[in-house]
Amino acid sequence: MPTPMLYWINGRLRPEQEAVLPVTDHGLLYGDGIFEGIRFYHRHPFRLAAHLQRLADSAAAIQLTLPCSQARLVEAINEIIDAFPEENGYLRLMLTRGSGPLGLDPAACRQPNTILIASQLEMASPEQRRKGIKLVVATVRRQSADGLDPRIKSLNYLNAILARMEASRAGAQEAVLLNPQGRVAEGSAENLFIVRDGRLSTPRPIDGALAGVTRSVVLELAEALNIPAREAPLTPYDLYTADECFLSGTGAELIPVREVDGRPLRHCPGAIFSMLSHAFQQQIKQETQPKESI
Ligand code: PMP
Repeated sequence: MPTPMLYWINGRLRPEQEAVLPVTDHGLLYGDGIFEGIRFYHRHPFRLAAHLQRLADSAAAIQLTLPCSQARLVEAINEIIDAFPEENGYLRLMLTRGSGPLGLDPAACRQPNTILIASQLEMASPEQRRKGIKLVVATVRRQSADGLDPRIKSLNYLNAILARMEASRAGAQEAVLLNPQGRVAEGSAENLFIVRDGRLSTPRPIDGALAGVTRSVVLELAEALNIPAREAPLTPYDLYTADECFLSGTGAELIPVREVDGRPLRHCPGAIFSMLSHAFQQQIKQETQPKESI
């Protein structure tokens, strides 16, 4: 039996039947809102400060005033983690514009809604983590950074969803989205890295990548391990000819890729992926495990 999800809405934990919002919430009507996905390990949220910073930045970018202080959000996060039956899990933190009349104008929306959901999450099977997953390059494109800055983690994931549906139809586990210029942006819910000749490359936010928290951990670890790394414009050709490729994300953690559009990659899991993946797990332990048990 999967562990039931827990819900915290606007100030308190609620049973599932009370975890409801009005249908006039602009988050539902227009996707007007933002969110974060946060993992906790040993009841400690991983990289919480970075997630809260990104939430504050997304809020500033869409002119949404946070309905409570960061300290209150941290309290709520700790409350739901303490109430969750498992030590490890995933939190979805959402801020919606709130309830208002029909029409796009948010000015008449009364008060943003703050929602936290605690859940278990298994984004990939142990076999997929060991052997890697298949990617396809989706025909659906990530919207241009001029249209919607990809650093805003908005509630609207429709193009990512359409891309993921393409992947499923093609028998692959994940899709890569290109930006309107044909540069690689990211996976439907993960950042993407390739390795070529010992060097790590990942697309830039300006090319359509979310500034992923896990992505920044990977870049930190690469520096510590003396693995050359850079942000770079990439095309599907770079994926097809890469030595290694992998995805990073809060839900995904690090997942190796074994095939892109039917082309097997040279190494999966590759040596650099394996080093980074090991270092990533160590980092999680270091930051979240009670000190006496390390
Ligand atoms: N890109 C997109 C579109 C995502 O939804 C996510 C998951 N939040 C990521 C990248 C990975 O970001 P993070 O490492 O912060 O979870």
